[in-house]
Amino acid sequence: MDLKKIIRDIPDFPSKGIIFRDITPVLQNPESLCYAIDEMMEPFKELDFDLVIGPESRGFIFGVPIAAAMKKGFIPVRKTGKLPYEVASKSYELEYGTATIEIHKDAIKEGQKIVIVDDLLATGGTCEAICGLVEDCGGEIVCLSFLIELLRFDGRKKFAGLPVHSLLKY
Ligand code: IMP
Repeated sequence: MDLKKIIRDIPDFPSKGIIFRDITPVLQNPESLCYAIDEMMEPFKELDFDLVIGPESRGFIFGVPIAAAMKKGFIPVRKTGKLPYEVASKSYELEYGTATIEIHKDAIKEGQKIVIVDDLLATGGTCEAICGLVEDCGGEIVCLSFLIELLRFDGRKKFAGLPVHSLLKY
């Protein structure tokens, strides 16, 4: 299935010069939704791991069904101030300014193996921060899977030595 034909390209969103890859048409259609989820979890099928982790909000959309299908738990990564219990935090650089992400401190047990799921890999900054959070909590990232990879940012170089899977490359 050619998902590039279904993804909607929105020029100048959220700011001038950016082409936003809108995945909502993929979600709307049951065949493309199931295809995307099946393909994104393919690299996890032969892998020994304990949990799926994904950032809000589109990492939840793909991460939760993949975790459930593989009979694993899911850890939500949220923007600062959203989680109700004790948190571990990590800040990272954006093009303009910084962002802070958080997980619950007790979400990971020492030595657990974790896979990252998100809709899109650009600079890799978000997922690098997630790797840091997971390490701080005693876990280990063992694989990353994305629907879309924006090749010009070369984000995968931040995860040298780890398998980085993406379905669609732009
Ligand atoms: P990175 O941290 O630079 O790799 O950016 C990845 C994050 O930005 C992901 O969580 C994406 O959801 C979001 N993102 C960046 N560009 C796009 C886009 O064109 N479409 C959808 N999400 C995007």
